[in-house]
Amino acid sequence: MSRKLFVTTALPYANAPFHIGHIMEYIQADIWVRYQRMQKDAGKPREVYFVGADDVHGAPIMIAAEKAGKTPAEFVAGIAAGRAEHLDGFLIKFDNWHSTDGPENHELSKSIYKRLRERGLIYTKTIEQFFDPVKSMFLPDRYIKGECPKCGAKDQYGDSCEVCSSVYTPTELKNPYSVLTGAAPVMRQSEHYFFKLSDPQCTEFLKSWTLGQGSDKSRLQPEVANKAREWLGGDENKALSDWDISRDAPYFGIEIPDAPGKFFYVWLDAPIGYLASLKNLFNKKGMDFEAFLADPETEQYHFIGKDIIYFHTLFWPAMLHFAGRKVPDNVFVHGFVTVDGEKMSKSRGTGISPLRYLEIGMNPEWLRYYLAAKLTDRVEDIDFTGDDFIARVNADLIGKYVNIASRAAGFITKRFGGQLNLGPEGKDAPILKTLRDATDEISGYFEHREYGRALRQIMHLADEVNVYVDANKPWVLAKDPAQSDNLQQVCSRLLEAFRILTIYLKPVLPAVAEKVEQFLNIAPINWDDVANVLPDGHTINTYQHLMQRVDQKMLDALFNKEAEPAKKADQPKAKAEKAAPAPAGFEPLAPEITIDDFAKVDMRVGKIVACDYVEGAKKLLRLSVDLGEGRVRNIFSGIRSAYKPEDLVGKLTVVVANLAPRKMKFGISEGMVMAASAEGDDGIYLLEPMSGAKPGMRLS
Ligand SMILES: [Zn+2]
Repeated sequence: MSRKLFVTTALPYANAPFHIGHIMEYIQADIWVRYQRMQKDAGKPREVYFVGADDVHGAPIMIAAEKAGKTPAEFVAGIAAGRAEHLDGFLIKFDNWHSTDGPENHELSKSIYKRLRERGLIYTKTIEQFFDPVKSMFLPDRYIKGECPKCGAKDQYGDSCEVCSSVYTPTELKNPYSVLTGAAPVMRQSEHYFFKLSDPQCTEFLKSWTLGQGSDKSRLQPEVANKAREWLGGDENKALSDWDISRDAPYFGIEIPDAPGKFFYVWLDAPIGYLASLKNLFNKKGMDFEAFLADPETEQYHFIGKDIIYFHTLFWPAMLHFAGRKVPDNVFVHGFVTVDGEKMSKSRGTGISPLRYLEIGMNPEWLRYYLAAKLTDRVEDIDFTGDDFIARVNADLIGKYVNIASRAAGFITKRFGGQLNLGPEGKDAPILKTLRDATDEISGYFEHREYGRALRQIMHLADEVNVYVDANKPWVLAKDPAQSDNLQQVCSRLLEAFRILTIYLKPVLPAVAEKVEQFLNIAPINWDDVANVLPDGHTINTYQHLMQRVDQKMLDALFNKEAEPAKKADQPKAKAEKAAPAPAGFEPLAPEITIDDFAKVDMRVGKIVACDYVEGAKKLLRLSVDLGEGRVRNIFSGIRSAYKPEDLVGKLTVVVANLAPRKMKFGISEGMVMAASAEGDDGIYLLEPMSGAKPGMRLS
């Protein structure tokens, strides 16, 4: 029997595009889901359904739509249209994306409500609330402003004062006014519908669901269980407050059955949207939604932020339980994203724009890796800092992992026709055994959302592989024809090690893993492929560049609002270029620069007047180059493998003339000659201008 998983993220409110906090949550959930999809139980792949939806109801959307001159449905459709670009951009693979205004949600919300009513858990009560007489609508607290009852500050919200931090109720405000019309609100009575959370059977159920029973440990994370314990009053029987679940027309939402003019409060139908999205998916697949949820083997998990714990640990399980439905197996709560230790704030313009990240050509897997490296199973904020980001991506991901493949693949391709041979020890070579033995530990970390630990362990293994490289020195073996077999075996083991590391990293780096599968010439890898091996005689494809390093300039561009890289009008073109897949082996372009950036590089035509070998340097030639500036420059260049000194003397070439002089072991290099090269091609090709060019001419 294979596990069956139903997984969601919180439903984003459809009044704005995604921010970095959404993307972090989706990446966290996507990694977990991708890990689960790689698993098999008794040889059968796990069944995983990962769904999301836009949360579209409620007063804020109704009001935002009106301001935009649209109907709420048109307004949320506009927001929904921007979702795929973010999700695809960060390789987040939901099985379905739906809306809480879909017919499935209307149907499910009404049926759950009716079941609660049948259980005697719904009642009505008349309450008094501020009403805007001009707009003819009841006003949520956030739509009432006035003078603070404590300090007298003007224009304060109905729930708290931003000047003196006092908390109060809207009725305490002095000279209150409606934010919508400016009119003085009047108190008006209205009948509201309540969910009787104070009922002892609710408290009893919630205690058992949140805190466990008897010796059963709580299913919740310790921080979340503590919150629940606080709300539920620990051992004393503290009654929860009943929950006001209705709002009066006009309201964009789902009308309550048998209650004309009354609508479900958005927080009632929002989580039901999880089920609605799953039902929508199952309808499309022709599968039985109710049977799947009724199956006791089905596991249901929600990834959420720490700001919505109350809704997900009290209202949501209680609603489901008393409606006779499956309750969640758990909620997985995460903290917020901070940037340089600061909480993001739209008004202060801090934070990271996910679209900008993508538009300036930053690799989505850098962010996936970086966030994963910091994620734990605890409710902690995650801090993004530029230096840390560069260090983790360049030093760990590229320096430790990607480099293993690039160091080994060239020899296998050039010397051995791409064929592998692991040698007599085969898959039992100690370095490979070390890697395989870690599989259960790493698997456990992913299962328990300890991604930071998983990546630390994987990078530790990559370190061991690099120690193996340094101990065996393939570049030295390559020089001795008698060591040919040894060279093939060392490099084959490195590629097998790289394959295993790629399996471990695949939940985090799905696109890199796909490139590796292509390069190693293997079928898509699953977790149990750790036990397999690249067989002797297996032929790999030519190594393709896997990942570029992060450049500080990209981070500058990410945070610097002045230097907009793509003006609005240019965007479609820029996107079209980005979307076209580059041919295999093509090194990705560096980040876009302006003409001013380019003008900083001063390239000149130079004449090579002398050229020599450099004693003790196997790669270098020493060039004496005349740039027409009345002296001859000394330039070292790593082109010895391609040219003999006598081939170059008298030739014209191109020199970066304003590069800072570089002190080398053999002397100072006063510039750089330009040469072309590519990954997977040993050649180096010096640039030579067409006839007529003279020393000193500038390139532009
Ligand atoms: Zn005040």
